[in-house]
Amino acid sequence: MHELSIAEEIVRIVAKEGASVKAVRVSGASVSVGRLMAVETDNLLFCLDVLKKSDPLTEHTIFTVEEEQLQLRCKACDHVTVTDEFLFACEACHSQAVDVIGGEQLEVSYLEVESHED
Ligand SMILES: [Zn+2]
Repeated sequence: MHELSIAEEIVRIVAKEGASVKAVRVSGASVSVGRLMAVETDNLLFCLDVLKKSDPLTEHTIFTVEEEQLQLRCKACDHVTVTDEFLFACEACHSQAVDVIGGEQLEVSYLEVESHED
């Protein structure tokens, strides 16, 4: 299952980043997932809820998933196309010579942590 391996990766990143700031626990995390990752958001959230229990840092993390749209830069006219479709063509000049500049990312965009109070 595709979402499961992506969820594993996200939990690993969140736990690592939480540990690097010496957090006691990570209370919230936002995940930015590109459209091209073809992730079913509900599925991903379900997998995250299961996997997060394997690490005390992420056990109580509330995850939110944001899907980033596909972004293409046209090599012919430099127009940037933003779309929800899997359409690899420039909307301005219809050229198919485009570079994908957004929609492939998988990143933790925001982390809310709790630290030791002393
Ligand atoms: Zn174009």
